[in-house]
Amino acid sequence: MDYLEKMGISTLTEEDNNLALALGGLQKGISPLEMAAAYATIANNGEYIEPVFYEEINDHYGSTLMKPKQEKRRVFSKETAFIVQELLTQPVKGANGTATYCAIDGMDVAAKTGTTDSNYDRWLCGFTPYYTAVTWYGYDQNETVEFNKRNPAGLIWANVMARIHAGLETKQFEKPFLVQEVTICADTGMKARSGCKNTYTEYFLMFTVPDLCNKHSGSEVKTDEKDDNSKTEIVEDIKEDIDAEEPQIDTNVVTTIVDEEEEDNLNSNANNENTNTNSNTNTDDNLGENTNTNVNTNINSNTNINTNTNTNTNTNTNTNTNTDTSEEDRTSYVEEEDVPNEEDSE
Ligand SMILES: [Zn+2]
Repeated sequence: MDYLEKMGISTLTEEDNNLALALGGLQKGISPLEMAAAYATIANNGEYIEPVFYEEINDHYGSTLMKPKQEKRRVFSKETAFIVQELLTQPVKGANGTATYCAIDGMDVAAKTGTTDSNYDRWLCGFTPYYTAVTWYGYDQNETVEFNKRNPAGLIWANVMARIHAGLETKQFEKPFLVQEVTICADTGMKARSGCKNTYTEYFLMFTVPDLCNKHSGSEVKTDEKDDNSKTEIVEDIKEDIDAEEPQIDTNVVTTIVDEEEEDNLNSNANNENTNTNSNTNTDDNLGENTNTNVNTNINSNTNINTNTNTNTNTNTNTNTNTDTSEEDRTSYVEEEDVPNEEDSE
């Protein structure tokens, strides 16, 4: 329930706190809008981004009058998000997939079908590296949705998504370095040996890969070339990975990776960086002209390594510019995502 709330679900009640929740059994349900934003959290590599209905409003001179303040927060690590992305491709590309008709040529597609008792509701929730879309199909007053073979919500989803992806470059979900692709023995659920007959590929957070199969014999089946890295090399790579990932800086947005289950056991501190820049300019002359510039940048990277890996990235950027020219002709800019609600916002 905590994670649902972090992903923007606002309709939970006390009564939802029971096992039916795992199957999506909710007292009030979830609106398609909130469902789309929650799925987009997984698609956006673990970051929740509040939905908005417009990007900005301009006047006829092109100046921005309004911009919505869009809340963003990290819910999952990108590693956790990738593993869920990968799991959700199975309904599309798996042998027993329930949404194989949602496939788009060359694209990774994640999709989950859904239904409720007596077929009152039909859902298709899914995403690609480009778009997240959610379709609900049903009646205002509960009635069984009759259909022939294919989930009608899924058919709408597949048709819309196929069209908006036409002409786009093919794209796959990107596997973060700390996620390992491993060949697993289907009989034991352990890492496959050459003697294991039944195998499949599965993704694991590094350091959570299971031991070698204890039922069959043979040498280890290698999937990932990083398998043999010593711990030092892994730490080096983690640093590089984090550097490579760093800032897409969002104005006025604080991003924190919260993955509580990974947070508990921390041994070493591989990388700790702190940059703090502060500049302040103030001009005041006799003509009553007043310029005030304030730039504040704060970048914080933290990596902790153990059997579990935890990545913390804090990016905080604040830009503030105030210009005040003469007493009659006053102009003032606030370069933030905040909506300036008055012309003079001093
Ligand atoms: Zn085996």
